[in-house]
Amino acid sequence: MARFISAAVGAGGVNLREDVRVIQEMLNQVPDGEGGPSPLLDTDSVVGPLTIGAIRNFQKRQVGFNDGRVDTNNVTINKLNTFDRTPASSAAVSFRHQQPLDPLNPLNQADPLDGFDATAAPFPWLLVPFQDVNRVRLVNGGSFSLLTSNRNIATVERDIILGTIGRIPTGIINIQGVAAGDAFIRVLDGAGNQVARLDVSVRRRRNLGIAFHYVVNAGVGTQTRNPGDEAGFLPLMNQIYLRQANIQFRLVSARRLTITDNLGTEVNTIGLQTNGEWPNIVRHRNGSAKFNVFFVREVETDDDGEPGGANFSATPTDSVDAITEIGGNRDCIFEDAAGNAANMGETLAHEAGHALGELDDGANPLHLMFGTTDARGRKITKAQALRMHQNAGL
Ligand SMILES: [Zn+2]
Repeated sequence: MARFISAAVGAGGVNLREDVRVIQEMLNQVPDGEGGPSPLLDTDSVVGPLTIGAIRNFQKRQVGFNDGRVDTNNVTINKLNTFDRTPASSAAVSFRHQQPLDPLNPLNQADPLDGFDATAAPFPWLLVPFQDVNRVRLVNGGSFSLLTSNRNIATVERDIILGTIGRIPTGIINIQGVAAGDAFIRVLDGAGNQVARLDVSVRRRRNLGIAFHYVVNAGVGTQTRNPGDEAGFLPLMNQIYLRQANIQFRLVSARRLTITDNLGTEVNTIGLQTNGEWPNIVRHRNGSAKFNVFFVREVETDDDGEPGGANFSATPTDSVDAITEIGGNRDCIFEDAAGNAANMGETLAHEAGHALGELDDGANPLHLMFGTTDARGRKITKAQALRMHQNAGL
C-alpha cells in the first residue's frame, strides 16, 4: 500500500535517518527490471552515491526525470508506493515503556520512571532531553511509517541492530531531542491512517542547587543526622527526577547550622512567615541554592509542644514529617522522624516537588506528590513534570 516520510530524501534532501531507511527499503522492493537496485541497497539509513544512484535509476525508468531526490507526497514516492506491501492496520498500535519493569519504582514497577506517561491525555507523552535521546516501545507498529510533526524539535527513528542475517528492528523507537519545544510523532499504516500518536516535549537539563543545613539547637536540633548523610539520599532524588523531569539536584553546601534561640521542643510553623520560629531558621538559607533543607528534631504546624504556650501538652502530637513552602523561597524543614531512613531520597523528592510549586496530589498513591510518607509511588505525571521543569528554571 503505502509508506510515508517526514522530509525529502536524496540529493539535496533533508535525509532524516528514518526516512532514508524507508526509501532504501522501498527501492529494494522494486524488481530489477522495473528500475530497482541490483545488488540491493544496504538499508543503513545513510545517503550516499549508491542510494542517490538508485533513486535516479528508478526515476529514469518510472517517472521520466532523475533529480535523485524523493520528496514527500510527490510523484517519485507515489510511484515507489505502487511497489509497497505495507498493510493497513489490523491490531491496535500503541506506545509502551521501553523496559517493562523498573525496580526504582517499588510500589509500581510496571510504570518505569523513564519520562514516558502512558496516562497523559489525549495522547501518551514522552520527555526527551535536549540533544539527547529517549526511547519507547512501539507495539504492533510493524513497518508502519514514523513521522515527526517538527523535525527541528524532535526526530524519530526505529532502533535497528545489525544481525547475522541483516538489519533487524528491535521494536524500540528512538526519539532525538533537537531543540527545546513540543512536537509529536505519528504512526501511519499502509493506508495512511494515523494509528498511534506520541506527544513529545524536548527540554534542557535544569540543574537545581540544593543546600542541607543540619540544625544544632538545645531544643530542636537534629539528633540523628550529620553533614555527609546527604550522600545517602541525594542519588535517589536524582533517579526520581532526572528522566521524569530532566531536573538534576546539585549539592551546593552541607553544614551544621547552630541556632541559639530558644525554640522550645518543636519548630512551630503556624502561618509560616508570621510565626517567629520558621523565619528564625530559614533566614539562614544559602542564597546560592534553589532548595534549602533544614534538618531538625521535630517540626509541627500546631503549638502544643511549646512550654508556656496556650496549647501546651505533655504529649504533643506528631502530625507532619516535613514542611515545605510551596514555591516561594523553596525552604523545607524536615524532622528526624520523617519516614524510613532508607527512603529519605523519596521523601525529600516529594518535598522538592512542593518547593517546585506542586501541591499534594491526593488522588493517586502511585504518584510522587501523594501526601503520605512511605506510602507513595514515585511517578511524576506529564503535567507535573512540565510545571516542575518550568519552575526549576526560575
Ligand atoms: Zn506533601
